[in-house]
Amino acid sequence: MEIRSTLVTDFIRILKETTKKFPDKRTGKNLQYEMSDFVMSAFSVFFMQSASFLEGQRRLHEMTGNDNLFSLFGVNKLPKDTQIRKQLDEIPPEALFPIWEDMYHLLFRKNLLNKFSGYNKNLLIAIDGTEYFSSEKIHCEHCSRRKMNNGNIRYLHSVLAPALVQSGSKKNKVIAMEPEFIEPQDGHEKQDCEQAAFKRWLSKYGSRYSGRATILADALFANEPIIQAIQQKGLDFILTCKVGSNKYLFNEEIKFYEDDGTLPEIQFSHWNGKNNEIYIYRYINNVRIKDPYYNDEPTRVNWCDLTIVNENTLEEIFYNSYITNFIISDSNVQDIVQDGRSRWSVENGNYNVLKNHGYHGEHNFGHGNNHLASFLFSLNLLAFVFHTILEMTDFTYQNALKRRVTYKNLFQHLQSITEWMVFDSWDIVFALISIPKDQKISASKFFEFLQSC
Ligand SMILES: [Zn+2]
Repeated sequence: MEIRSTLVTDFIRILKETTKKFPDKRTGKNLQYEMSDFVMSAFSVFFMQSASFLEGQRRLHEMTGNDNLFSLFGVNKLPKDTQIRKQLDEIPPEALFPIWEDMYHLLFRKNLLNKFSGYNKNLLIAIDGTEYFSSEKIHCEHCSRRKMNNGNIRYLHSVLAPALVQSGSKKNKVIAMEPEFIEPQDGHEKQDCEQAAFKRWLSKYGSRYSGRATILADALFANEPIIQAIQQKGLDFILTCKVGSNKYLFNEEIKFYEDDGTLPEIQFSHWNGKNNEIYIYRYINNVRIKDPYYNDEPTRVNWCDLTIVNENTLEEIFYNSYITNFIISDSNVQDIVQDGRSRWSVENGNYNVLKNHGYHGEHNFGHGNNHLASFLFSLNLLAFVFHTILEMTDFTYQNALKRRVTYKNLFQHLQSITEWMVFDSWDIVFALISIPKDQKISASKFFEFLQSC
């Protein structure tokens, strides 16, 4: 049987290679395993989105003397869950991050990065933070702490996980980028926060995108220190702004032009399939975000907003406003607002998957004392990135997903077929899942199928 190489095989090989550079303080019994055995075993749980995957493979190994952890994930010997937990707790999640560079090169080679570009042909990088662990009992060295109203302490893990997003895309594809963990920092008394984490992220990765990316973020980031940090890295920005957090900008600068009647405004009519909507864009360039009376030479930005109203009822359906360094005109205000609005997909795509579709790490491996929580989060993020890229590029994967319609259905099939049979390659796994629903598979037909592979 010919074993063909698919993209998923390449991803797994790259991940396995990366683990060779991981810090390794092991002695004694644990040396019977390779470092990759611990990492790939944990990764398989996320990639298969199955908390019981390792247990299923142990049973399969007992029955057949072989298992899919070996054949599909390159695990030579499966450690116990307690051994995986102990080992991964020692590895800082940053050890995984070089793999993201390989992802970018792959996306570039396959001409896919341009799918994530917006105005000015810039890559669109959406910034958002999320909490991925919360407990009043379980905690580790890296937990943040929050005092509750009842006096109890709640232990948390949060992360800033930027993502490449598609402008105006309803398909909602996002590629998660290297995350930055929001956690107590060495030598700092103060609790960490999203803005500080973003500055650290910029200092690590910002230069890579200098002159070719736009940062999209919510109103929390629409302030002078963040704008200066973005511009120091040669990046552009489109940030949501709000009256509450940008009082001077709205109450003095914008209001001046509104009262003066000199705020440029353009309108478009848009049929949404049910009703006609009116898109009203307003903008003004070169406005200050802070009061010049109290601040020497405050940062100047360009501002725009969009109001969408129902043409029949005149009911307001949507409103948002943005600040940017791009000079705004009648000809580009729609593009700039469209890029600004794309930020929401980082919440609906990235984190929704991570939160609601299979964060099984805690269930299998616990929380750990040191790095385990953040390492498992990063593995889950990586599994999500792999699935997204496969969906965009790999024919066998696309076919399997097309047949099974939803991710949930695809994962159910992946789980069930890999529990009772050992597969030599991912090609065959996806080809088997792609068999049309109306084609009943008998044992003899299945044998024919395997011979044809
Ligand atoms: Zn913790």
